[in-house]
Amino acid sequence: MNPDETSVLLIYTGGTIGMIENPETGTLENFSLEQLQKHIPELQNFTFRIDTYQFDPPMDSSDMDPEAWRKLVHIISDHYTKYAGFVILHGTDTMAYTASALSFMLEGLGKPVILTGSQLPIGVLRTDGKENLLTSIEIATACDEKGMPLIPEVCIFFENHLMRGNRTTKMNAENFNAFRSFNYPALASVGIHIKYNLSLSHRPGHIAKDLIPHYALDTNIAILKLFPGIQESVVASILSIKGLKAAVLETYGSGNAPQKEWFIKLLQQACEQGIVLVNVTQCSAGTVEMERYETGYQLLQAGVVCGYDSTTESAVTKLMFLLGHGYTPSEIRKQMAQPLAGEITR
Ligand code: ASP
Repeated sequence: MNPDETSVLLIYTGGTIGMIENPETGTLENFSLEQLQKHIPELQNFTFRIDTYQFDPPMDSSDMDPEAWRKLVHIISDHYTKYAGFVILHGTDTMAYTASALSFMLEGLGKPVILTGSQLPIGVLRTDGKENLLTSIEIATACDEKGMPLIPEVCIFFENHLMRGNRTTKMNAENFNAFRSFNYPALASVGIHIKYNLSLSHRPGHIAKDLIPHYALDTNIAILKLFPGIQESVVASILSIKGLKAAVLETYGSGNAPQKEWFIKLLQQACEQGIVLVNVTQCSAGTVEMERYETGYQLLQAGVVCGYDSTTESAVTKLMFLLGHGYTPSEIRKQMAQPLAGEITR
């Protein structure tokens, strides 16, 4: 891309990066993008245009929901041809969900969409927000010699790592290095240099010419996290929720669950009723292998599908996406086993 044509759309949704301490209560409250820009005069040093779009009012990411994701998809799709890349400032708490959702909703994406935020507000002296923002802008505009974007996908950049968005999890509420992509290597490591691992990213040549934005999401889903001692009534209540269409089953280790008869029976009944059950592991890293142990195999026989090395965030948003598109349970079961946006490795 010609340097004159390079420009970035900076979308401010909210989160700690743009918060300020209320002197009376001591709590962190949102402030405007304008105030945020004042704290980063370095933004003016970029030689290309940075346009901005602000969520009004900005939102703590704990309030993120499909409506906000649709809004983001609208903004990106409406401005898609105008910008080299997009940077989304977002609270860290649910950033991995938003990144996962966007990776499915922005089909055929050929430009970088980089989500970032910070652990300390931008007005605080030791803030991590400044570096995160400036580096994200650099990544969002990085091109090869032919002018093709280096990283044409939805990513999270945080502290030292650029990660595929739908592989990422927030794993630390304290450290600046708050995110990890446990099951997929970083797309770039950032220190003095930004070292891209281009062979790991979606390649521009493989990407459809046009962006196909999707807006349909169905939230009739649940997460059922197992723990030793979980009661039959708890599992039964979750699986009999009115209108439930799918659930992410967070199992142990490589996809194992209790062998109790009542448990398997409840899962089997749910599957027979057309509820899609997806097996993901509670472990941060590694993959579900349902044929490895008897305790996983019986889930397979009950009709539970393998979530492979998916994060919970990715499985949840992928189910919302597939259900939203009206696929049948058997089609959804098939699609859960196929990567749609690099979210699983089989
Ligand atoms: N509660 C904040 C949010 O997710 C935390 C953060 O941004 O780090 O919006």
